[in-house]
Amino acid sequence: MRVDILASGSRGNAILISGSGSSILIDAGLPVHKTLEGIRAANVRPRNLRALIITHEHIDHSFSASAISRRLNLTVMANRPTLAALNERGNDGFFGVSPFETGRAFDAGGFTVTPFPVPHDCAEGVGLVVEQGPKSLGICTDLGFATSLVKERLKGVDALVVESNHDPGMLMEGTYPWHVKQRIKGRQGHLSNAQCADLLKELATPNLRAVVLAHLSQENNRPELALSSAMGVLKEVGADSRVELFAASQDEPLSIAF
Ligand SMILES: [Zn+2]
Ligand SMILES: [Zn+2]
Repeated sequence: MRVDILASGSRGNAILISGSGSSILIDAGLPVHKTLEGIRAANVRPRNLRALIITHEHIDHSFSASAISRRLNLTVMANRPTLAALNERGNDGFFGVSPFETGRAFDAGGFTVTPFPVPHDCAEGVGLVVEQGPKSLGICTDLGFATSLVKERLKGVDALVVESNHDPGMLMEGTYPWHVKQRIKGRQGHLSNAQCADLLKELATPNLRAVVLAHLSQENNRPELALSSAMGVLKEVGADSRVELFAASQDEPLSIAF
């Protein structure tokens, strides 16, 4: 399985997953031209894309959902509350729609995708486990805290894209208005570096080979802080030599294969 993170952060998210001649796109938070550019740069033919999955309706995940869907003849897959929220915002008119039920596995272009609920201030946000053959990938960003269900679902995956949004000190000392700071660090907000590290400690099973820290705040975090926090726990549990650790960025695509 190959994962191309075209962009990750509050200015736009898109993840391309490829394997066995098929690709799917997770989220469409970038403008159309940037998404197409990213897909081509990853050496994926846009016509090999089979589906577009939207994790939640926030604009950094859905900005070009409708335009990409029509441009590439892609069926949009999301749960009904997310589809309704997109519709309310006029982000609709998709080429095709295939609603999924949170908690129930479904097929997307030859990948088995299991969506699970995450606590976030949106209609019904989901994290995903994506499987093809013996390989499995967990994707989990935009969550206020890791519930026991989140841990249960992500345990045992081979690779993980997980949120490491902010350093709490930088957030509190930063320029964001008070209510935004409260939102980010709240139970429906975003995962801090320390929360991410705590989660990683539990997910560092012998299967785990690669971890991508994602949705890093450009205002309230620095890649080196997120990486050293995560590396700290991987060392603590003796997983640092077998797990490759990366930080995804808003502007530089990142590609991993496992
Ligand atoms: Zn987001
Ligand atoms: Zn969000």
